[in-house]
Amino acid sequence: MGKLDVAILRYLTGEDFRVLTAVEMGMKNHELVPGSLVASIANLRHGGVHKLMKDLCKHRLLTYERGKHYDGYRLTNSGYDYLALKALTNRKVISSFGNQIGVGKESNIYIVADEDKTPLCLKLHRLGRTCFRNIKGKRDYHAHRNRASWLYLSRISATKEFAYMKALYDREFPVPKPIDFNRHCVVMELVTGGPLTHVTSVSDVEWLYDELMGLIVRLGNCGVIHGDFNEFNIMISEDGQPIIIDFPQMVSIRHPNAQLYFDRDVRCIREFFKKRFGYESEEYPKFSDLERDDELDAEIACSGYKRNETLENELLEEMGIGLEVSDAEDNEECEEIDDKASSRLGEEEIALLRQEVEASIRHDETIHTVTAKTNELT
Ligand code: ADP
Ligand code: MG
Repeated sequence: MGKLDVAILRYLTGEDFRVLTAVEMGMKNHELVPGSLVASIANLRHGGVHKLMKDLCKHRLLTYERGKHYDGYRLTNSGYDYLALKALTNRKVISSFGNQIGVGKESNIYIVADEDKTPLCLKLHRLGRTCFRNIKGKRDYHAHRNRASWLYLSRISATKEFAYMKALYDREFPVPKPIDFNRHCVVMELVTGGPLTHVTSVSDVEWLYDELMGLIVRLGNCGVIHGDFNEFNIMISEDGQPIIIDFPQMVSIRHPNAQLYFDRDVRCIREFFKKRFGYESEEYPKFSDLERDDELDAEIACSGYKRNETLENELLEEMGIGLEVSDAEDNEECEEIDDKASSRLGEEEIALLRQEVEASIRHDETIHTVTAKTNELT
């Protein structure tokens, strides 16, 4: 669990990659993807897809499971990791893997390196433990809780994180330099030093306090709120400078709960400084003090920027999935479901999925110029 078996990257072939991508595409509308469907989507010239799938199951990149109505394949966490890591290595963004350095609430963090041996930080987003519910009931195959959605949600989270990091970096905020992303993986500059929560003393407490409050205000003036601005998401570099990380939850100052999030970020810092350094100040920013001077929220289409037009909504709607209910851990209702009779897709749909596989493989092989716009998803 949690371990990246990167040796696999070396001996799996382009055909394996294609089969995994086909399963990934099939999972857009199947809980379990029937082998025959994988075969037709993968569209391998020489056939032999079933043997490939069997081997991929042995490596635990796929699992074969029995559903109520039919059996089929599902991409595992490792399978999804493999697809993203393969794409990032193809693009020469990363070329070697090191240790895991962190386990966040919803991520695993690793040290990796590029071809020049420059160490980088790899963040794998994992929203798999969350359970989702359909509120639209539009489509049969999403009519129940859908276990495939972890894949899309992790991807949304990584895409948002990269877009925010890029926009902030361009504005010279102290954030890690964003390098690239693919699916649920973000590659960024590795910050030296450690999280503020590990810091027991600082040379100038008042300076750091003012610096952090200044950042909250500067973000606000750009139209955004970090939303999780605390000692775990503020790194202190070796030269004592704060660096902000962890952005998927950022929202616009136009979000209906913006003031609440803003006040909470401010309160987190005040409380931490009081508890850790015995430092209290009468001066702290108020939401009403913000003077907008930038449109970062519009650029990224932050949550709350335009109602119903956020990235998540678009994607979730596309999948016919509703909003979060609760953690799977304390909710046993995330039971196995399967899609009735939808194993038979029409020729047109199969042709479309084939095209998507081709496009996805092309995309994974291209070094793309990064845009902060998030509409390059799908
Ligand atoms: P989560 O969303 O799961 O909380 P974070 O982005 O906060 O994930 O990262 C979790 C931990 O990993 C951080 O507290 C930090 O210790 C480490 N980390 C994250 N990004 C970097 C980075 N760019 N450089 C060094 N360490 C990092
Ligand atoms: Mg964090």
